[in-house]
Amino acid sequence: VACWSNVEMGPPDAILGVTEAFKRDNNPNKMNLGVGAYRDDDGKPYILPSVLKAEEQILKAKLDKEYAGITGVPEFAKAAAELAFGVGNPILKDGLNVTTQGVSGTGSLRIGGAFFAKWYQPSKDFYLPSPSWGNHTPIFKHSGLEVKSYRYYDPSTCGFDFAGALDDISKIPEGSVIVLHACAHNPTGVDPKPEQWNELSAVIKKRKLFPFFDMAYQGFASGDTDRDAYALRQFVKDGHAVALSQSFAKNMGLYGERVGAFTIVCDSAEEASRVMSQVKIVIRPMYSNPPVHGARIASRILNTPELRTQWLGEVKGMADRIISMRTQLKDGLAKEGSSKNWQHITDQIGMFCFTGLKPDQVERLTKEFSVYLTKDGRISVAGLSSKNVGYLAKAMHEVTK
Ligand code: PMP
Repeated sequence: VACWSNVEMGPPDAILGVTEAFKRDNNPNKMNLGVGAYRDDDGKPYILPSVLKAEEQILKAKLDKEYAGITGVPEFAKAAAELAFGVGNPILKDGLNVTTQGVSGTGSLRIGGAFFAKWYQPSKDFYLPSPSWGNHTPIFKHSGLEVKSYRYYDPSTCGFDFAGALDDISKIPEGSVIVLHACAHNPTGVDPKPEQWNELSAVIKKRKLFPFFDMAYQGFASGDTDRDAYALRQFVKDGHAVALSQSFAKNMGLYGERVGAFTIVCDSAEEASRVMSQVKIVIRPMYSNPPVHGARIASRILNTPELRTQWLGEVKGMADRIISMRTQLKDGLAKEGSSKNWQHITDQIGMFCFTGLKPDQVERLTKEFSVYLTKDGRISVAGLSSKNVGYLAKAMHEVTK
């Protein structure tokens, strides 16, 4: 009976807590800018028309509900790797990639964590950008790895601390793993420029670090899935062996379907087959095999030329709407008479904007204007619409005067 008397109350999840508080608020102008999920210009969740079409086709095909293999739907994994590395990439042609379906981005990172903890011999240290997605640390710690950090965000410019990052990275012990957000860095919205990625690649190579990419927003940053894969593909070109986690939550709007993939690039096809055998052994006790429905949707979209073209247009539509909201927010602040420099709002990219608001300003935004966001000043730009962006600009101006 007293089995669990030692169990302490844990803290609520930082982001889900914001949504709870939002729900309790009766202000008709209230805004929830905490959660990282895309909304259309009416503030509603967006089901991609290409996803609906793929689902209709799947329903018509009356596919059975048998188990997938441990690594999931094979046509999905292949197409996911092609989307990331680019069709025709030599590593795919030569069979150097070990790619398995994962339970969205989180589950794919967790497979990677488990595999590295068991098999990666040079080090157990994972270096994250500071700050990084809040779940990175718990995922890798839960995998039995040590989590450390390197400088990334510069609060004085609300931009990339390139010099700080290079300085820290050049001192990371050889053999360590460095985690890189492939594009649309969460939570800051700050990405290195292509030339900066090239330099990072060189330093990481020189230090003999292992680059582990987290790509949760391919296509969502620039609107172009190839452009958003720049860093990953450049590192591969530069001869890095990489690991990669992918999520289709954002770019296909498949959040709750949990569609993702994990890849390790090997030196030879023979090595790849050994690594694949062990990836399966890592996954089997965690969840046996992944759910099939979402992967079938993604696979159909990626493997059907018309659906793929339609989907690429829809991803671009989402990215463009977000980019236009950034401009409208910056313009709105200027119109309110703000003399602050808000250039970073449009320099940053992807789902999130690190506004630079201080904790007391965030508190005022919530208390006085019913605008809900995380304490670090991050807003989900996808939560803005042509109807409420003016209200947010006014509120942000009021608390930063
Ligand atoms: N990595 C990053 C950087 C993210 O922002 C997210 C989504 N918030 C994920 C991974 C994974 O999310 P999911 O498990 O929903 O795919």
